[in-house]
Amino acid sequence: MWYPNSSAAASSAPLWTVAALSALTLLSGLATLPARAQAPQASAQAQAQAQAQAQAQRRASGDDQLPPGDIATAERALAAQSKVRVPTTTIDTPQLSYEQLEPRPRPMWIEKIRDGLYVIRGPLGPCMNACTPNFPRDGMLHEPGDVAVRVTDEGVILVDDKFAVNVPDIVRLVRTVTPQPIKYLVNSHFHFDHAGGDGGMLARGVIIVDQKELRDSYDRARIRAHAPGESPHIVFDDYGAIYLGDAKVEMFHFGAGHTRGDTIIYFPDLHIIHMGDVVIEGMPHIDYTDGGSAVGMLDEIHDMLELDWDYAIPGHGRVMTRAEVIEYAHKLATMNARMLEIVREGIPRNRAAAALRLDDLGWDHTRSTATFMANDVGGYYDEMARMLADERAGNERPLLERLSH
Ligand SMILES: [Zn+2]
Repeated sequence: MWYPNSSAAASSAPLWTVAALSALTLLSGLATLPARAQAPQASAQAQAQAQAQAQAQRRASGDDQLPPGDIATAERALAAQSKVRVPTTTIDTPQLSYEQLEPRPRPMWIEKIRDGLYVIRGPLGPCMNACTPNFPRDGMLHEPGDVAVRVTDEGVILVDDKFAVNVPDIVRLVRTVTPQPIKYLVNSHFHFDHAGGDGGMLARGVIIVDQKELRDSYDRARIRAHAPGESPHIVFDDYGAIYLGDAKVEMFHFGAGHTRGDTIIYFPDLHIIHMGDVVIEGMPHIDYTDGGSAVGMLDEIHDMLELDWDYAIPGHGRVMTRAEVIEYAHKLATMNARMLEIVREGIPRNRAAAALRLDDLGWDHTRSTATFMANDVGGYYDEMARMLADERAGNERPLLERLSH
């Protein structure tokens, strides 16, 4: 999501106690996904074939879902700790919303996903950006971006670093799972609830590797916000990789969607990806001020599904299965088709938000709905108007092909 004023967030950060944080981190070991067998040593082609076969078998056998008792167990344990009643569920029951699972403010916590991979979630609060006039309270709990922590025997690679104010807690939580230093960091995109901690990480000697458009956007936003400090030192274009210890972390830029510098981070040996805000637990958010695109976002999801993975870390929210990501793509395609129809029917731009049906998609009241409606629905209307003009001019590939894959 787009939260331009990180300093406001810093000044109003909740004063979580160290005791509460320690108690919560003790529970982190409960949240472990099943281990996978090691991939056989073979040629790249044979290995790719074996992966595709294994993936097909897992899907055919229904083994593509999480068994009960992993992250959901930790969620319940955490809720018990804060004396909150949480319904019994597992991670593969998407009907239960964020708010039902996490009904009250909470400090940051770390969850083990698989051996060598953790996610840092939270803090949860009523406003991520101090409830500035552009981002009014919507009655929900918000959190800055999910941080992935890849631990190797030669150091740690992070994905994203939340707001600047969150950096000390991120470093502290990493230390609860490994004595290894944080060596590299990759941003999924430039928004300050994901990359706001970059200055603090650079000051700690962490090397940041970013997609090149992402770095440009980060620079411009930092200068606009008068945020002092440096920018990431190393860039890549469509593909990059970091090799550290026995781990490889790959970065894919599939084009513009949420922002123009979106990066999908892939942990190939663990079969997990980090999707940034291309997929979040909530209504999709397209940042048109940074060259985002709803059609591009759908293309990105399509491209990420070409990779071999079982579980995906969203920009905000809990870990998702492939089935949930596919369902999300279908819902996004439906929403795109609806906005296109609004334009086609001649409904004026300033009435598009009211005309866009979201309740049957479950997106009429999510953490990101107010942000999208306040800032981006006009850009969304304009994107679909351009597509319609292209269609009428006989340009571009057929609309349905672009909207429905
Ligand atoms: Zn974002």
